[in-house]
Amino acid sequence: MREIRTTCAYCGVGCGIRATVTGERSVTIKGDTEHPANFGKLCSKGTHLGETVGLEGRLLTPMIGDRQAGWDEALDLAATKMRQCIAEHGPDSVAFYVSGQLLTEDYYVANKLMKGFIGSGNIDTNSRLCMASAVAAHNRAFGEDVVPCTYDDLDEADLILLVGSNTAWCHPVIWQRIEAARQKRGTKLVVIDPRRTETAEQADLYVALAPDGDVALFSALLADMRDRGLLDAAFLDQKCDTPAGYVEGLIASAHGIDPDTFKALSDLVAAHPRMISLFSQGANQSRSGTDKGNAIINLHLATGLISEPGMGPFSITGQPNAMGGREVGGLANMLACHLGFSAEERADVALFWNAPNICSGPGLKAVDMFRAVHDGRIKFLWVMATNPAVSMPDAGFVREALARCETVVVSDVLADTDTSRLAHIRLPALGWSEKDGTVTNSERRISRQRALLAAPREARADWAILCDFAGRMGWGKAFDFTSAAAIFSEYAQMTSLAVKHGKVLDLTDLALLDDAAFDALDPVIWGGRHPLAKRFSHTDGKARIVAVSAPAVPALDPAFPLRLNTGRYRDQWHTMTRTGLSPTLSQHRREALLEVHPRDALQHGLADGGLAEVSTASGKAIFRVAVTDSQRPGDLFVPMHWTDSFSGEARANRLPSQDTDPVSGQPGFKDTPAAVNPV
Ligand code: SF4
Repeated sequence: MREIRTTCAYCGVGCGIRATVTGERSVTIKGDTEHPANFGKLCSKGTHLGETVGLEGRLLTPMIGDRQAGWDEALDLAATKMRQCIAEHGPDSVAFYVSGQLLTEDYYVANKLMKGFIGSGNIDTNSRLCMASAVAAHNRAFGEDVVPCTYDDLDEADLILLVGSNTAWCHPVIWQRIEAARQKRGTKLVVIDPRRTETAEQADLYVALAPDGDVALFSALLADMRDRGLLDAAFLDQKCDTPAGYVEGLIASAHGIDPDTFKALSDLVAAHPRMISLFSQGANQSRSGTDKGNAIINLHLATGLISEPGMGPFSITGQPNAMGGREVGGLANMLACHLGFSAEERADVALFWNAPNICSGPGLKAVDMFRAVHDGRIKFLWVMATNPAVSMPDAGFVREALARCETVVVSDVLADTDTSRLAHIRLPALGWSEKDGTVTNSERRISRQRALLAAPREARADWAILCDFAGRMGWGKAFDFTSAAAIFSEYAQMTSLAVKHGKVLDLTDLALLDDAAFDALDPVIWGGRHPLAKRFSHTDGKARIVAVSAPAVPALDPAFPLRLNTGRYRDQWHTMTRTGLSPTLSQHRREALLEVHPRDALQHGLADGGLAEVSTASGKAIFRVAVTDSQRPGDLFVPMHWTDSFSGEARANRLPSQDTDPVSGQPGFKDTPAAVNPV
């Protein structure tokens, strides 16, 4: 029995795993003590990955409607439909909706095919729901989507601010690392969150922020540091471009939290220059998510607390390979390899790919993409490795959009998902334990994900499906990849364009790996520990302090007097298509609970353990009630994972609206006006 080194299938921590194949479809899992992301530690989800590798529910052959088809027939049909669509309605009538579950090589091929050959920018990813606001904030502040810290900085920080992050549940191995730093060096921990989560319970200071209060709080902290004389004038002068009068005009008292708590927080910030602000979906999933990211980054730039050990703003991603997708260009608003859509960047990319149809500009972001499907502008949609009928906001609308679409292709490991039920063509993809390639974690570390088990029946790697399809569209030469190594090598070469345009994304050292060297590739961080230490990626080398404004909190409609927040449970993942297979993981929380403050429970006639219907302008769903004072009065919380056992539809994500952040296009899942009634 051979031990194989790979990485976890779940979150952006990117833990290394040592897997031993013990049978045809069974593996045992342990943490990889040599992997620098986790040094052998795993959380419950990673530990129980072995329970999810069976073939139950798998899609094992291509399907056209309800009948089995061969690969030739299924891909020929998909190519015919796409060709017709482009001929009649132009390239923007087709779209790919992809996923942070894809490997970087899958992402690279999908992006190259859409933006260089089909000729549209219409490829977007479910990472849009996760951290697009952090990407936009990085681009605005740094001139590039670069995380300026690594996990090693967590070990050397004296103060860690967790902003909108239930780290103990959602990134458990980072949480263990923070806990170790607290024990070893006495690192102080502040949790800033509207919910008093399991993480908040263990903090040195919990700041109970109003929903969307982050911009006001971080702007007030910056003003308070200014008043204490703690801004770094030299750093601001030499390394930052700051709007005239912006910092001077901020008001230290405009924070909206109780003054004693603010003072305690500000005292901690003032006393601990080695400070990390780790932010996650609670900050990003907001109609003001980009401004939140920039408010956090502004504080670090103005005080000079960045690019040194133990300090910096640190966005943590949700998915295992959200970062890889960001790098190669899987977001509709990036071309490829951190490049945008200027004439020169497009010309360079077209030349590199020898692309006949380079797209003219950005494509539609996820929410707009499904609007375009709904109103018939997009007529051909290919969904890869994700379940938008459950995970998108206003999921009922997305379901309608899919049902109306002329051609829906779904590549997935599972035969029957809420999305694939609406597909015309289903294509069997490889899953974790079968596929081979790379992922990038939250600290920019590229790690190998290696195949442990043989491909079942006719399932194929996503990149291989796409290359076969591209050949049928007449572009076979540009997609004649025969291995993940060949794709990675081309991607790594392509980062020379990023370097040419002043970016720090540079993998050119890894450009000539052959299959054997790729197979042996050890985890490697691109950009080093502090990639922005010498210069930022704007053309003048300076960072930008971005003028941000606290969003007006919309007045509550009397019909929807509460605010609904959604999030994750510790032992479930996304729409449960994998974690739902593990009996052990199901024990943590057996059903979705509606968390409500005792005052609201009394006012709305809800009993602990009873059933309640939550309604919003977008939809309704029923949950079991859990009365808890960890909720702020006026706020509700439900987990995002479950579908409705009667209708099979999304439960939580039927409720949020399609409202998005105006810069990043990320939906605001955390603050939906809602009503609740006992059932
Ligand atoms: Fe997997 Fe994330 Fe848990 Fe690590 S922390 S084992 S990457 S789910």
